[in-house]
Amino acid sequence: MSDYNWCHGPSCHTRQTQSRVRGSGDNKVLRTIKIKVGRYNGYQNGIWDYFCNQGCLMDFIREHITSVIAIAPRREALETPIKVEKEKYESYRYEWDSNDEHRRVPYQATRTTIKSVDNNNG
Ligand SMILES: [Zn+2]
Repeated sequence: MSDYNWCHGPSCHTRQTQSRVRGSGDNKVLRTIKIKVGRYNGYQNGIWDYFCNQGCLMDFIREHITSVIAIAPRREALETPIKVEKEKYESYRYEWDSNDEHRRVPYQATRTTIKSVDNNNG
């Protein structure tokens, strides 16, 4: 495997930055960015081994979205079993009174928490 990849952004070679300029005299070009493999130690599954930046990544996705989705199409919704717990607790809100001062007013609040359940217990 090569130690470098060319950026896969379809328009990488058209972006006008100094880092893309190659050649000399009247034979200058803007060239696709060369990326050192492993430059971010596999961060985000190594996606940045193939794209020089987020703009090039998004250009690639926009151009190839149909093909990318065809690799792993989602034909039905997935579900994650959960428990929803509601608990009441004493809270406070602040109100302005007629003297233009604010005071703490207690009220009964409800806290809703989504909890994971163990999928192995059926
Ligand atoms: Zn690029």
